[in-house]
Amino acid sequence: MLSSTEVNQNAAYLEKQASRESNARSYPRRIPIAIREAQGIHVTDMDGKTYYDCLAGAGTLALGHNHPVVINAMKELLDSGAPLHTLDFPTSVKEKFVDEVFASLPPEFAKRAKIQFCGPTGGDAVEAALKLVKTATGNRTLFSFHGGYHGSTHGTLSISGTLSPKQKVQSLLPDTHFLPYPYEYRCPFGVGKEGHHLSSRYIENLLDDPESGIVAAAGMIMEIVQGEGGSIPAPVEWIKEIRRITSERNIPLIIDEVQTGLGRTGKLFAFEHAGIIPDVIVLSKAIGGSLPLSVVIYDERLDQWSPGAHIGTFRGNQLAMAAGTAALQYIKGNEIPNQVAVLGQRLMKHLQSVKQYSHFIGDVRGRGLMIGVEIVNPTNQSKGHNSYPGYPELATKIQQECLKRGLILEVGGRHSAVIRFLPPLIITNEQVDDIAEIFSEAVQKAEASIL
Ligand code: PMP
Repeated sequence: MLSSTEVNQNAAYLEKQASRESNARSYPRRIPIAIREAQGIHVTDMDGKTYYDCLAGAGTLALGHNHPVVINAMKELLDSGAPLHTLDFPTSVKEKFVDEVFASLPPEFAKRAKIQFCGPTGGDAVEAALKLVKTATGNRTLFSFHGGYHGSTHGTLSISGTLSPKQKVQSLLPDTHFLPYPYEYRCPFGVGKEGHHLSSRYIENLLDDPESGIVAAAGMIMEIVQGEGGSIPAPVEWIKEIRRITSERNIPLIIDEVQTGLGRTGKLFAFEHAGIIPDVIVLSKAIGGSLPLSVVIYDERLDQWSPGAHIGTFRGNQLAMAAGTAALQYIKGNEIPNQVAVLGQRLMKHLQSVKQYSHFIGDVRGRGLMIGVEIVNPTNQSKGHNSYPGYPELATKIQQECLKRGLILEVGGRHSAVIRFLPPLIITNEQVDDIAEIFSEAVQKAEASIL
């Protein structure tokens, strides 16, 4: 039996953290554990309890924790005597990484592609993308979408939908405009599935209206599946329309693949679902094979930057490049994106059947292994088109019931009422079934507590 000091280790770590770290800390408030070790889809906390990790570093850990391929690549680099920190000097490790990334892009994009190493956060790479298109076009207007999330810096927060972190920060970027994203369950036009036609029509009209109030665009940024906004997949037809509309008007289209990139949605890059070629893509999270790394890849015509136009000390993280190359090779070599598509459908089917008996699940949606379950309160008045107000208290209860049963899930999206599944891409069929079973039990238990 564990002694009382051993059983309370999580609490002790959390208490110490609360006393020393800033009030901005976030995940441990909802998932109150300290982590001792991790392997694959599992993490073990300081009290010895093991969980399924369906947060996976907020979608970073495509191959799960400590995948042997990634660990070996790091060990090899460490043993080789190669430098770890190289600013933006060329190295053989970097060259291999760029070769691998370019070989992974659609050839039409790759043959005109330039790459810039950034920050190494997703937010810094988005910043770079914004500066790139502003410089290239000489314009200042940026378009993004309601529900979009692109980072936590001044610039990226300015183009993100999330309101609470913006509320108290003055002087965000001017000339940013938000457009309606095709969110079927909460359709901004009140028509549901067909709403995306109205969205693209609205956008096209706005761009051509000489009295729209909005001066010429520098660029438009979007996610193919909104992550933090609540795992919302955009219809393929709409994505194609947005590409047509922006191409015809020479507006650089930036696809933020920070969360969707490297197989998460069932394609290596999410934009491939629509067969479009973006002008700019932003990659981070999975691209570093679990270490910090970010890049912007863009069409060479946009390369109007002067030397030093986007700098940053940590652009030469060799360990991350080695880990990223290994992860990318593994993902492609083992056809992980195809497996993700199948596994995603399996999980989705399970979650749809939970929805059948639940009174409080409004929507189950997603693409690949990026799935959201929106918890709503049907006893409140409908918001139109069969959608009901979010029920964040119940979503949190379900999250906590999952945690008790050894399943880590994050809650996000509109009104923090969307339970998000972001497991590592190496999850097995059996694990999908087990996770769905735990979720189902947790939903029943949480619902019983409020009925
Ligand atoms: N873009 C998207 C789509 C993201 O999901 C995130 C992070 N959740 C970011 C940008 C920002 O990345 P980072 O937190 O590394 O700055």
